[in-house]
Amino acid sequence: MTNTTSPLIFDGHNDFLLRFFRKTLTIDAAMNGVETGQMDFPRARAGGFGGGFFALYVPTDLGGAIAGSYEDKMDQPTYDIPLPPGIAWDDAIKVILSEVATFKKLEKAGFLTGCTSTGEIEAAFERGEIAAILHMEGAEAIDENFETLEVLYAAGLRSIGPVWSRPTIFGHGVPFRYPSTGDTGPGLTDLGKKLVSECNRLGVMLDVSHLNEKGFDDLAAITDAPIVATHSNAYAICPHARNLTDRQLSIIAESDGMVGLNFAVVFLRPDGQQNVDTSIDTMLRHLDHLIDKLGEDRVGLGSDFDGAEIPQGIKDLSGLPALREAMRQHGYGEELMTRLCHGNWMRVLKKTWKEI
Ligand code: ZN
Repeated sequence: MTNTTSPLIFDGHNDFLLRFFRKTLTIDAAMNGVETGQMDFPRARAGGFGGGFFALYVPTDLGGAIAGSYEDKMDQPTYDIPLPPGIAWDDAIKVILSEVATFKKLEKAGFLTGCTSTGEIEAAFERGEIAAILHMEGAEAIDENFETLEVLYAAGLRSIGPVWSRPTIFGHGVPFRYPSTGDTGPGLTDLGKKLVSECNRLGVMLDVSHLNEKGFDDLAAITDAPIVATHSNAYAICPHARNLTDRQLSIIAESDGMVGLNFAVVFLRPDGQQNVDTSIDTMLRHLDHLIDKLGEDRVGLGSDFDGAEIPQGIKDLSGLPALREAMRQHGYGEELMTRLCHGNWMRVLKKTWKEI
């Protein structure tokens, strides 16, 4: 007998917190359920969502009107969206503190349980709670002396992407460019290399998902932790600059890291188009390729819920059972299902957080 809400899915990336900063969602509405967005409490229950990485993120417009969203431009046969300008630390820190506060309020309201160890995540699973890791997507709010890193660590931050698709004092993001490899610019700055060492020292996970290829190589050369892409796909299937080439996948495998499958149609579809009429089968093609290159222990899920257009057959958190069903029909056995849905994240986090 298969159970469509099991195994629980622990997910590499969501942009849920940004909805509160944009004031398009309140805590009460998130608990009771809403028509908008891709995540809320009732849909998390319906989908068998065990939790995941909740991103702190500074929008380029700093919360102002969403004018000329970059996503609108991805319906051309090819596209190359320029990187937006960087964001100053004192602008960024205000946004990040507001989002950390939202995370703490969501915890008080019983929406999620903040976790800083895999023991806490597994205990939350058993109690039927949503286990949440505080992640930062783009390190604009980290200062050059790493003082904010210490403070945010104390607040529970356990995962950082040094850049979003935007420059920071640490490195250069990869643009939304199709078709293109991720070899789009210079690598990590000296401060970026220092950030890698600081994160290694603290046991904070580093996420390569928005780094360009040179930044990826710089990080790989320094880090002593498994290399993780929380929400990226296979370049061999969709030649988008955000996706990982087989060469990068082999470096991730060698480090015993992992990749979380991104559900965004622009990173899934071979034609890179913003079109939700995309089959779940396309997701399985990426999973097969990632498993082939990385091994069954190094692949998971990284939806990008509330941050991307995703296949209409999944639509939102309540569509996770459809994904499980498709994975089973594709021939993934129960042991592999458990690893892909959450087991591999636990394995990599245990190593990264120096629990073993
Ligand atoms: Zn992202």
